[in-house]
Amino acid sequence: MALRLSDTKTRTTREFTPVHAGAASIYVCGPTVQSAPHVGHARSAVAFDILRRWLAASGYDVTFLRNVTDIDDKILHNAGHENIPWWALATRNTRAFTDAYDALNVLPPTGEPRATGHVPEMVELMQRLIDSGHAYAAAGDVYFDVRSFPSYGALSGQQPDQMLNAEEPGAKRDPLDFALWKGAKPGEPQWETPWGPGRPGWHLECSAMATRYLGPEFDIHGGGLDLVFPHHENEVAQSNAAGDPFARYWMHNGMVNTGGEKMSKSLGNSLVVADVLQRARPQAVRYFLGAPHYRSELDWSEEGLADADAAYTRIENFLERAAELLEPCQDVDTKSPRGRPDKLPGEFVAAMDDDLSVPRALGVLHETVRAGNTAIADGDKEALRQAYDAVTAMTGVLGLSPSDFARTTADSSLRNVVDALVPAMLEARAAARARKDYAESDRIRDALAAAGVLVEDTPAGARWRVGPS
Ligand code: ZN
Repeated sequence: MALRLSDTKTRTTREFTPVHAGAASIYVCGPTVQSAPHVGHARSAVAFDILRRWLAASGYDVTFLRNVTDIDDKILHNAGHENIPWWALATRNTRAFTDAYDALNVLPPTGEPRATGHVPEMVELMQRLIDSGHAYAAAGDVYFDVRSFPSYGALSGQQPDQMLNAEEPGAKRDPLDFALWKGAKPGEPQWETPWGPGRPGWHLECSAMATRYLGPEFDIHGGGLDLVFPHHENEVAQSNAAGDPFARYWMHNGMVNTGGEKMSKSLGNSLVVADVLQRARPQAVRYFLGAPHYRSELDWSEEGLADADAAYTRIENFLERAAELLEPCQDVDTKSPRGRPDKLPGEFVAAMDDDLSVPRALGVLHETVRAGNTAIADGDKEALRQAYDAVTAMTGVLGLSPSDFARTTADSSLRNVVDALVPAMLEARAAARARKDYAESDRIRDALAAAGVLVEDTPAGARWRVGPS
């Protein structure tokens, strides 16, 4: 069976037929880097990482673009609030996103274009739209003329007259029109264009960057369900009106629910990825985010996260025991188990080919783990080897290989060890000082210093940190 994907635009699940045989080009809307990533961002990243890994495992040469929107009203607002330059805030948050992706074993994109680096491409696209009568300049802004594009609304399944445009009215001719370019305001960053200085509108950025790297027609455009309208509707309008066929398939991941409340762009701190990773292993977070079907809603809960950890632990324990039993007699590479598609069970392949049915694929994975544990109990090496290879291949495809997380896990368990040992040594030092055994207290202090732990005596007691003095 060939890979079938759900396409928002045609409202069908249909066979994946790429523009170029053997290759797959994907553009996923990345973050607007106004703040650090929360679990909603992470869910989208994991969903499209699974798509990408599955296409690669299926033999496609994958090009994966994920942009960074590094100029935007909220970036300017938040930077003003912190009294730092807008680009410093954008850079800091871009790094926070990269850290979150890395921690969750999301593969780095083939390309990661930033909006502010692609103004010439945006000017060129606006020029094409103005020349063809689909856009106009007004009072320093440039607008898309929605009425000039009859199929506007097709992606989100709406009639133009029923749509609400939340944008400010500005100088537009029709309330439905949307801004491609915003004229310069005092004190805001600006770039020169033939229509005056200003900064890009969000929708224009993605059309310009996608075609810059993937060409006028490419395979898959992805993003969260909350982006269908207006963002993706406007991307289709801009690119098609300019004569570009644009994306063949539109894929959208479901939202993350937190206590019944839909998450989109802004949310409280407790669901910031860095905070979640303080209380849960990255393996468990990735498992939890990737386990439901990508199009369904995900109900976030600490209980669900704990269940995910337990499920993942069963896989880990099996792989560890199997590796111990198989290693002495068979040549098994336990250091970097990777997806080996020829070892994937047929039912797993069928599930993934069916619009990435991860819930069914995980069912096959856990069944195989159970069969492997039975093989261990029965001392059946051949069955064990088969189960081991299959589980290794399946975890690789899902981005859940234990070895992929080994380094971060080692880092965090070492941190736990240090956090426990240093206070114990400081207690011993305090006891030595109390009995006036200064030779011993100095010895402990020197031993800590030699290990890179710096101790500072304060009225509130000894404080410590790791690092250069
Ligand atoms: Zn976008």
